[in-house]
Amino acid sequence: MFKKILIANRGEIAVRVMRACRELGIVSVAVYSEADKHSFFALYADEAYPIGPAPARESYLSIERIIDAAKKSGADAIHPGYGFLSENAEFARACEAEGITFIGPRSESIAAMGNKVGARALMAKAGVPLVPGTGALSGLEEARVQARHIGYPVLIKAAAGGGGIGMQVVEQEDDLPWALEHAQSSARSAFGDPTVYMEKYLRHPHHIEFQVLADRFGNTVHIDERECSIQRRHQKLIEESPSPVMSPDLRAEMGEIAVRVARSVDYVNAGTVEFIYADGEYYFLEMNTRLQVEHGITEVRSGIDLVKTQIRIAAGLPLPYRQEQIQLTGWAIECRVNAEDPLANFAPSPGTIKGYRSPGGIGVRVDSGVHMGYTITPYYDSLISKLIVWGRWRDEAIERMSRALFEYVILGVTTNLPFLKAVLESKDFRRGDYSTRFLEEHPCVEDDVRRIMAERSLSGIFAGMKNNRRVAAISAAVDAYLTEDRERLS
Ligand code: ADP
Repeated sequence: MFKKILIANRGEIAVRVMRACRELGIVSVAVYSEADKHSFFALYADEAYPIGPAPARESYLSIERIIDAAKKSGADAIHPGYGFLSENAEFARACEAEGITFIGPRSESIAAMGNKVGARALMAKAGVPLVPGTGALSGLEEARVQARHIGYPVLIKAAAGGGGIGMQVVEQEDDLPWALEHAQSSARSAFGDPTVYMEKYLRHPHHIEFQVLADRFGNTVHIDERECSIQRRHQKLIEESPSPVMSPDLRAEMGEIAVRVARSVDYVNAGTVEFIYADGEYYFLEMNTRLQVEHGITEVRSGIDLVKTQIRIAAGLPLPYRQEQIQLTGWAIECRVNAEDPLANFAPSPGTIKGYRSPGGIGVRVDSGVHMGYTITPYYDSLISKLIVWGRWRDEAIERMSRALFEYVILGVTTNLPFLKAVLESKDFRRGDYSTRFLEEHPCVEDDVRRIMAERSLSGIFAGMKNNRRVAAISAAVDAYLTEDRERLS
């Protein structure tokens, strides 16, 4: 087993990995940018090394500085978390070259899945169902011919894409020239590669993904699915497991395909196979060759610690279970709590957290890297925490999440908490009847956000706090904050 692991990431995911290290008796090493000097993850780690200025390009994305810190600290392995260098084949190769174990798949598997056009070709060969679409587009003429063949609407996507960047829906041929050019130029500026391809655009799909685990001895298993269709600008906001549309037969079939996808690139470690699902048909979308943000909902249903399993696999240990031994129970939901303003087009809202109390109680898990007095900087994403609940069945999980959102107090920065509550209250969400278009088709959510913000100022825990003299000081802060809120609302 490793003695020392460097975590090449920050925030909640760095803490998540360090927790696994602590339980395994492994020394954890943080690397931090100037902006993160006082961040919780840098203090939590057993050792911490500065790696440069705040902009990620000069710190968390600098392969050289991270490898340098790993050598200085004597770490024998690196966990990349998600984002940053986690799906960078060059980084995995650099670790391999230095004799430091990269806790993830081999660099070849990352490279094979990193280019979506290449991955589609590989999957076609492996007999995996694909969204009707094309290879790399040579230009407008080919795009025209292909779009007519596929049938409008079509979606233009970046071959090197990620994070929903550079996707363009095209409803009709007249819009094709502009959309193609726009997609190519945003692909060039975001990924340094203007290559794009085309897929049939499905109107009301579900995003359903399967967690897979593979060891070095050819054992590959899946740990059921996650439904991630509540998205804004192709970014996930609320995830649940199982999927409300899943049946045991469909799960068995899709799970088997997910395992086949992993095997086709000799995949080792944890990965996620993403599918798009509509009208009883499912299609491969991509494979994420890393730990997902939303891995926690799979953990609470399966009892499997995915990060510890990643570490064990990387250390050369076999998976301790076969497919038929994996048992999942109950229902799990995750809400991504972000510092952003739901009433201002979700603009990021950096600032200092002046009051903080996270929810707790049965079935509640909060993964976060923040605390009272913590300053959310504008340099990185606006994730404050991942609020995860487990219930015996879906209704119980929803009630528990509503209760946890009610308990959550975050003062000083604007958060999307009222927005998450509004989605949870929506009839269609409660019925499990939603697609990736949920937010576009539920403009009423914004009115609900206003109502929930107003209600919070009148009732709930705040009112209780005001009646208690010992928390008068906190109440005053809450009052001031809510007054600000009311002013914003009026
Ligand atoms: P990225 O890697 O940029 O996240 P994905 O291919 O994983 O891109 O797609 C992200 C999201 O975009 C999906 O979850 C889905 O909501 C939407 N999407 C992708 N492909 C299609 C498609 N062919 N039709 C409809 N929606 C799609």
